Amino acid sequence: MTDIPHYSMYIDGRWCDTSRTLEVRHPATGELVATVAQGDVTTADEAVAAAKSAHESGVWRMTAPSERARILDAIADNLAARSEELTALQVYENGATVRAAGAFLVGYSIAHLKYFASQARSYAFEETGPLIEEPTLAAGVLRREPVGVCSGIVPWNFPLLLAVWKLGPALAAGNTIVLKPDDQTPLTLLELARAAHEVGLPAGVLNVVTGPGPVVGARLAEHPDVRKVAFTGSTEVGKGVMRAAADNLKKVTLELGGKGANIVCDDADLDLAVDGTLFGFLLMSGQACESGTRLLLHDSIHDEFVRRLVARASTLVVGDPMDPATDVGPLISAVQKARVEKYIALGQEAGCKIAFQGATPTVPRLADGHWVAPTILTGATNDMRVAREEIFGPVLVVIKYADDAEAVAIANDSDYGLSAGVWSTDTQRALAIARQLDSGTVWINDWHMVNAAYPFGGVKQSGLGRELGPHALDEYTEQKFVHVDMGTDHSKRAYAIVVAAAAANTA
Ligand code: NAD
Repeated sequence: MTDIPHYSMYIDGRWCDTSRTLEVRHPATGELVATVAQGDVTTADEAVAAAKSAHESGVWRMTAPSERARILDAIADNLAARSEELTALQVYENGATVRAAGAFLVGYSIAHLKYFASQARSYAFEETGPLIEEPTLAAGVLRREPVGVCSGIVPWNFPLLLAVWKLGPALAAGNTIVLKPDDQTPLTLLELARAAHEVGLPAGVLNVVTGPGPVVGARLAEHPDVRKVAFTGSTEVGKGVMRAAADNLKKVTLELGGKGANIVCDDADLDLAVDGTLFGFLLMSGQACESGTRLLLHDSIHDEFVRRLVARASTLVVGDPMDPATDVGPLISAVQKARVEKYIALGQEAGCKIAFQGATPTVPRLADGHWVAPTILTGATNDMRVAREEIFGPVLVVIKYADDAEAVAIANDSDYGLSAGVWSTDTQRALAIARQLDSGTVWINDWHMVNAAYPFGGVKQSGLGRELGPHALDEYTEQKFVHVDMGTDHSKRAYAIVVAAAAANTA
């Protein structure tokens, strides 16, 4: 136990401990990875107070956007310099395969933080609008100002990345933030805080509080001094966050669950679509909100596609996530494993056939891991629970359709609307389908590719607002209109001053 690392919380630029601790265990083996300080309502309040005081002092919001960009870039560079270590930590923390952890969970985090640094440089914090001519001549100035203290509540599946999606725009826009990771995966967020601390982010601008969601998370959602809450997690908890945020009318963004429809047209490149379908539902062992978990197959290709899918799935390696040869790792916890197994049984009871179920690892070292093998259920209909509810595991349900209109109708017949995909060699046809899908993202001949320059988020019960994209900072700013009357002799001078100030784009 002595060489098990211990992590403290990060509040007001200091590492803080508590008498109670959390344990982080590796999902593949059950081994203890680290102990972590366990916060509560008091520590959440201390973190918010630190963030409020840093905001009010002006230490960050009055810093020039170009300097904020420099520090965000430096944090990203610091993460990049330790990306191997972070990748391993991510694997031990949440069971992501080392390939996925390197490319997505850590790689995207660094790239996306760099994008937010670039946003700090180019965002229009202050600009002049059209001249106002009635009733008197005036100049209009539009300012976009930081909202103040933000909180970010993050789930366990992509902890570092989803923290960056909140910290990046919040800090680029001049806010301060309190982040709360899931109890099971606090380590990479605390490493993010370390990286920020090392490059000189002022104290209180970023705080990380660890502890139970219903205690620390709930406090950060309701706290009267928090002006904006960004939440990623389940739809049910997200609704509670929105209710809590209503008390002081916080701005809210919610990234919630999904049940992505993956439509394979009769003219698709079948081998490409087979690989994409497996990637679409198996990244993070299916514990990804944007997974393609409902496979919609055209009648005419159904049998051949399932045959190729099963053949390809049987080549996948399920096992030690640190082994680069591994394709599919464990689930996060015993609770999640039981939940997924329950859904597989529910699918069978409803009449689905198990067309494929892989093997779970047999090596003794992995005996205490939370394993569910990739499972393909055929014969599903869209009214079954396995087709309507988010399973959050390596389970694919296959549904047949007769034509494009029916595929769109089935895809849209869902409470969720986060992601969807279309496989076709006819781009016009694929685009026509994409335009009709109720979904925040549609991939054509691909899956999981998220680009920081484009928005990510859901419709219906998949969420509210967008993270990433050119408007991400809008969610972290308040607009202010400044009216400068020019109906005087000084008008020309007044206008020149307004234009010059806006050109300086002062935060
Ligand atoms: P969860 O809702 O249980 O937990 C998410 C976070 O909320 C955790 O940090 C947790 O500690 C905290 N939390 C728990 N109870 C809380 C409360 N009462 N008040 C405030 N915070 C609370 O979700 P999970 O099971 O950890 O994550 C899986 C879910 O996240 C899935 O539904 C998945 O689809 C969703 N997700 C969505 C996206 C997206 O971008 N749309 C991305 C990843 C995950």
